[in-house]
Amino acid sequence: MANTYDVIVLGLGAAGSSSLYHLSKSGKKVCGIDQYSPPHNLGSSHGQSRITRQAYHENPMYVPFIKRAYELWDELAMASGRNLFKRTGGIMLGTANSGVILGAERSAKTHHIPYEYLNSKEIHNRFPVFKTPEDTVGILETNAGILFPEECITANLELAEQNGATIKLEEKIISIDHQPGSIAITTSKGHYTTEKLIVAAGAWTPELMAELELPLTVERQVLFWFLPKSPGLKNLDYNSLPVYIWEYTAGKAFYGFPNLGEGLKIAHHHAGEITSPGTISKLVGDDEVVAMEHVLRNFLEIEPVFNYATTCMYTNTPDNDFIIDYHPFNKNIIIASPCSGHGFKFASVNGKILSDMALGQEPELDISAFRISRFQSAI
Ligand SMILES: Cc1cc2nc3c(=O)[nH]c(=O)nc-3n(C[C@H](O)[C@H](O)[C@H](O)COP(=O)(O)OP(=O)(O)OC[C@H]3O[C@@H](n4cnc5c(N)ncnc54)[C@H](O)[C@@H]3O)c2cc1C
Repeated sequence: MANTYDVIVLGLGAAGSSSLYHLSKSGKKVCGIDQYSPPHNLGSSHGQSRITRQAYHENPMYVPFIKRAYELWDELAMASGRNLFKRTGGIMLGTANSGVILGAERSAKTHHIPYEYLNSKEIHNRFPVFKTPEDTVGILETNAGILFPEECITANLELAEQNGATIKLEEKIISIDHQPGSIAITTSKGHYTTEKLIVAAGAWTPELMAELELPLTVERQVLFWFLPKSPGLKNLDYNSLPVYIWEYTAGKAFYGFPNLGEGLKIAHHHAGEITSPGTISKLVGDDEVVAMEHVLRNFLEIEPVFNYATTCMYTNTPDNDFIIDYHPFNKNIIIASPCSGHGFKFASVNGKILSDMALGQEPELDISAFRISRFQSAI
């Protein structure tokens, strides 16, 4: 029964590769299938860097997840010998009443995360590149930093394979037929049966799970790299610049990274058009570059020189919290949509949780906030 498995993981991006790694330690017969060859640049997990942080402005409920995620990233780095994380510190910027500031401080206080509260002058003295208006304050967190997504996914897949997992690449899952006791999968290359299935298909989840009418929307995002021209600011590396999220007006934010060699990476958070993996426009227009140059000139003391840009996809829920749950009609299928634009940092712990669920174990953290049933429209 070569094509029969205990668990199949559909999609080997951030969530799927981590699930496969954790499953591979169980001794079960496990297989991961991806339509491309992760890490690739066609989904949601590319672009060299992802911010990770603990003073979680979105909601303090994420802090236990992120603390465990840090431990598991460290374990993965040790086991793989790969460099997955750089601690750079991170600063949330906004007015005193902005969501990022109030939220980050709330999470830091609730979960005893060390932080500094800086006023505009202190921010500018510490990080002269920021042009902070007088009413801007900052929450600076030393634990924040950069995860290297391509390295993280490679580490998961290498270790999973070493542990005996089967990995099938360039193989697209076309259909999933499920009854209470069996799951049959047809791909572009063959047929499989499995007892359990983890669906970690990122932006392809709405089409693969169309029967559930999940309220997911796929959003186009553009990542830009600019080389700073101004003399003296050329080396804005992680020794002089932390990762940052700047809520410059209520509910609107951009974020950025220090120079990792190709310039300052910067992007808007949630300002893209609704799209789908099949229709996304991958071309970044001159108007988009000019608009981002404008943001840089307004908020950073640099004369930006455009280097390059790429597109990526957020898969959003209406409340921007994740979906991690059993299929409503078949508990042998587990559905993971841990995105909404902030999921990468949790991939290590989400993979562990998804693996536990597929192995019939109680997940180690409370995932009730991520249930599908919270959406009225979902079945
Ligand atoms: C521009 C951008 C910036 C971001 N910044 C941050 C950040 O700073 N910090 C943070 O924590 N998060 C961030 N995120 C969010 C984070 O990157 C995503 O939440 C995460 O990478 C999503 O992982 P995933 O496994 O769900 O999807 P993916 O990594 O896209 O994986 C899905 C996989 O499923 C495969 N697949 C789909 N359908 C099929 C099929 N039919 N058959 C076979 N394979 C299939 C795909 O090929 C793909 O490899 C960002 C996201 C974007 C787009």
